Amino acid sequence: MSLTDQNSGTTPYTELTLDPQDWDEFRRQAHRMLDESLDFLMHLDQQPAWQDMPHETENYFEERLPQQGQGLSATYEAFKKHILPYTNGNRHPRFFGWVQGNGTPLGMLAEMLATAMNPHMAGFNQAPKLVEAQVIRWLAGVMGFPSSATGVLVTGGTMANVLALAVARNHTAGPDYREKGLQLDERKYVVYGSSETHVWAQKACEFLGLGNAAFRQIAVDDDFRLIVNQLSEQIARDRKSGLVPLCAIGTAGTVNTGAIDPLDALADLCKQEDIWFHVDGAFGAMAAFSPKQKSMLNGMERADSLAFDLHKWGYLPFEVACVLVRDGEHQRAAFESSPSYIAASNRGVIGGGLPFANLGMDLTRNFKALKVWMTFKAEGAEKMGRLIKQNIDQAQWLAAEVEAEPELELLAPAPLNIVCFRYLPKSTVDDTDALNQEILLQLQEKGIAIPSSTILHGKFAIRACFVNHRTKARDVQQLLQAVLDLGRELSAKLN
Ligand SMILES: *Cc1c(COP(=O)(O)O)cnc(C)c1O
Repeated sequence: MSLTDQNSGTTPYTELTLDPQDWDEFRRQAHRMLDESLDFLMHLDQQPAWQDMPHETENYFEERLPQQGQGLSATYEAFKKHILPYTNGNRHPRFFGWVQGNGTPLGMLAEMLATAMNPHMAGFNQAPKLVEAQVIRWLAGVMGFPSSATGVLVTGGTMANVLALAVARNHTAGPDYREKGLQLDERKYVVYGSSETHVWAQKACEFLGLGNAAFRQIAVDDDFRLIVNQLSEQIARDRKSGLVPLCAIGTAGTVNTGAIDPLDALADLCKQEDIWFHVDGAFGAMAAFSPKQKSMLNGMERADSLAFDLHKWGYLPFEVACVLVRDGEHQRAAFESSPSYIAASNRGVIGGGLPFANLGMDLTRNFKALKVWMTFKAEGAEKMGRLIKQNIDQAQWLAAEVEAEPELELLAPAPLNIVCFRYLPKSTVDDTDALNQEILLQLQEKGIAIPSSTILHGKFAIRACFVNHRTKARDVQQLLQAVLDLGRELSAKLN
């Protein structure tokens, strides 16, 4: 058979592919990229934690869509010059900002192998399906979930939480919800969480058609933990006025301070009130890997659903998070569907159907399970636990140093891996918030370290979060010293 060019009708057709024309040359480039990536990762601590982009780089991205290819070599050079040096810094040993993982060299290789395979992870009759199923079982076991639990890997904690809330909604609304949706009846649903709940909850209520007014923020105590009595009273008030409680969210590790809600008491209340109990354990759930810390999470294992990230305190490269549902029937009931073009069979490629597509919204997913699987196989769960403990110890050390230092003030209890503090000059300055904001910005702009910030009880806090497997004691020491040095220098200037 020979194809002819549709336009000319006569000239022989040049068949195209995106595979390399010259595999030997491609292989040389590939080895160079791998070697240089490893060199780069080996020497991270010699680089600034962050650097702002030069104008030249900003301008570089004004280029129009190339109609003709420039070749791999030139494209890689552009990558090295304009992209590689300018990230938000989260791979660096002195990155303490927000809650962002570093990624790992092993994870990088696993991503490469997974992409080389490029399997379709809706399910199908293939080994990668077994890998993800095994990873889910392993994780469910660590989190104390029963073998009846189901789960799926998704892009991040937000999506994992959203899927769980959708399962809760469908379960609470009943079997007709999928057919009739919001037209089902006049019921008005409410969702509860503390005022420290991550913003995903409001967005999820909007996304799921409940409206963000449906999200009730319950007050927290001095330790930033949800006050269960107030939740109980709010539920009673809402029931009285005809509202239907849909879900109560407990957070294991709040984003501001790392507080862990009283999960056991929440589980009790939800059981008594017959309300779906969801735990957002985005990073905090990972403390379950550390035998010494596990008891802090008591009650998490009683949740109806649990969401957590592996790309935060699991250290893996973006993106990967997990949602678990205690009773797998509820998860399937929310998402299962089988149109004719993807109908399951007992044999052949689609043998066993598409189990993962039936547990969430995504149909096509990548093989993110491989980096989780390879990491557990190669490193072992015990080492993960020790790394997590190491981060907690670093945070506890910093909190103790802050408390011992008269020029520093701890702004919230540090129960887990987050320390919120500020510089307090010996001589009073007009605006402590502005001073600390300037300290934070200079830490970042000078490339020394990257904490982030938050506001606690109206005060600007420098916030250091420890989910970094590259951080060493000397990095924490450096952060502490730099805050003191900058604080002294800047407050002297202000006076
Ligand atoms: C980060 C975070 C989320 C959102 O997770 P993503 O992976 O960023 O989508 C939700 N809850 C908490 C407590 C978090 O820290």
